[in-house]
Amino acid sequence: MQRTVEIAEFELPRGRITVGELMAMEPAGWEHLRSEINLRRTADPDRPLARCHYCQSSIYIRAQATRDGNVPMFVHFQGADPECPWFAGKNVVPDDARAAQYRGHQECALHRWMCDMIARFLEMDPRLTKLSVDRYLKPQIEERGRYPDVYAELDGLGKFAFEVQLSKPFAFEIAARHRHYQAEGVSLIWVFRALDGELPQGFRDVITMQRGNAFLFDDAAFNASVAANGLRLSAYVEADSSGWRKPRFVRLDDLPRASRSDVAGWRVVD
Ligand SMILES: [Zn+2]
Repeated sequence: MQRTVEIAEFELPRGRITVGELMAMEPAGWEHLRSEINLRRTADPDRPLARCHYCQSSIYIRAQATRDGNVPMFVHFQGADPECPWFAGKNVVPDDARAAQYRGHQECALHRWMCDMIARFLEMDPRLTKLSVDRYLKPQIEERGRYPDVYAELDGLGKFAFEVQLSKPFAFEIAARHRHYQAEGVSLIWVFRALDGELPQGFRDVITMQRGNAFLFDDAAFNASVAANGLRLSAYVEADSSGWRKPRFVRLDDLPRASRSDVAGWRVVD
């Protein structure tokens, strides 16, 4: 699939439109947006109607021909920052490395976006009974609380805490956090954006805790989530020597039920 800008910031009052929302529109809807963008571009090129959420470059809507007809995508106009993780042209940095290496404030934007999207896709599950993003989770057992990035309860499935971890070093004890959630009966899932080169020690620790599994919310997982109308993560398992086996998409239901709250029991890919 061609790389798309996954979230667009339109001039207010329209505001934010994700590529998932764009794809869900009737053709007349996105064709209208598309012509508005192009009209503005002609009339006032310095004041674009829509920008990339990530790099703030101006973007347009491309109609991508597929077997099922034209599918709309957000694409940067020429001259966008080639370091943007959603850049579609010739890249300075390889795809997977870009998000992690991007500048600090963009990384915060990516972190926020990943939390929002994970929450958005969780909301599509009819079993969802509770959802919070980056809010205080009252501890039931221990005195001290935690602030998971995303917290969700699904009827018949369990309680889940998602921690989105980008390239920054981990600023806390990973094992302690695992023990905390385990005591609370909450499954803790660390979510990465990319796995590239030498992983920082914190990433290694998490993967060890998850029995060799790494879960990514990358472009592939995003596209799979859009297609499935629900959260999908790319599950990677380490090959024996170095590198990773071919990833597969997993749902929360795919995690081994009996051991879901046991950090030592995670192994969803053989
Ligand atoms: Zn961009």
